[in-house]
This record gives sequence, C-alpha cells and structure tokens, in this order.
Amino acid sequence: MPNLQKSYIGKALSLFQSRIGEPVTSEELAQLTGTKGKPISHNIRRIFELRDEMGYNIVNHKDNKKTGLNLKINEWVLLAKDPDPNRIRSRGINKRIMFEVFSRDNFTCKTCGRTPEDDDPFKPGHKIILHVGHKLAHKRNIENAITKVLTKDDFVTMCNVCNEGAKNTDLKPITLFDRVKDADKETQKNIYDFLKHKFI
Ligand SMILES: [Zn+2]
Repeated sequence: MPNLQKSYIGKALSLFQSRIGEPVTSEELAQLTGTKGKPISHNIRRIFELRDEMGYNIVNHKDNKKTGLNLKINEWVLLAKDPDPNRIRSRGINKRIMFEVFSRDNFTCKTCGRTPEDDDPFKPGHKIILHVGHKLAHKRNIENAITKVLTKDDFVTMCNVCNEGAKNTDLKPITLFDRVKDADKETQKNIYDFLKHKFI
C-alpha cells in the first residue's frame, strides 16, 4: 500500500503501532506530514477516522474512566495493533451513501427482512429503525479501506436489531410468505388469482 505509507493517516498509524499502549502526543501527531511532505491541517480529524471509520482502538483523556489510564489532554494511546471492526461507528457514512444503500435494498433489512413499518420485537411500541452496516468483506479487508473511497457497495441495510447483533440470534426473519399471510384479503386474492393463472 504505497499510498497509505505516504499519507498522513498511514504515518499516524505507524507511529501508534510502534508504541502500542504508550502515549503519543498531539504535538507529535501535528508534526507528521501528508503526501506532499508538509504538515496537514485538521490532523486530529484523521485520528478520529482511524478510530471511528477503521476501528482502531485509540483512546484519549476522555476515556480515562473507562480505560483506567491517566492520560493528559494532549495524549493518545493505541491499545491494540489490529483494528476491531465492531468498533467502527457509522459516522463515516454520508447521507448520500445511506440513501443509495437503503434505496438499493428497498428499505428492508437484508438480514431479517424487516422494514420501518414493522414492530421492533424487543421494544414494545417501537418501530424498526434502519441502519447502514459494513459488509463483511469490507470488515475483513479493513486496512485497504484506508486508501479506498467507500461506496454503497461496501454497505448493506440492517435494522436496529440485527445491527446490534448479539440479541438477534433467535430473531425470526420475516419472509415473503409471512408478508402474504399478513396481507389484507384483497391483496391475498390478487396474489391467489395471479398464481392460479400462472400454475393452473
Ligand atoms: Zn434485521
């Protein structure tokens, strides 16, 4: 990945990875250069990208309570060499990609088939909320994502239940047959007539 090594984000990652568990200061990060060999503006934003869009477990003073570390305001620590896909937050996805993904997937969760019109099975009185999830291929290939511009092909529509993962193991998918069973009489009659015409 030659581009990555020259880019600011690649250099920052190398610095963090050479000092896992030890603080890197904001001053050190500010001295790293971009592809043109000059310091870049808003460099801390790139650090947040490493954390939020690529899943590197980078913490700062705000995480002291959680980590038990005693970091100063200008200190950052990478806790593990490899990124953890589960740490990726969806803030890296812009509104346009989100809409393209939802449209392509018919505003339907690709895992369980639920839509925003369905009830949340775990939260009585609440409807399903759709999210944009990273595809597994992308998760596995996460370092490549640094040099790649993400498109709708990297994401898939997921409902809030499937997106949370853990509790959905016993979540029953909604199938087309379920939809037909739940449809009103007139819709069922139309489907019946259509199928009868087709098969008899
Ligand atoms: Zn789902």
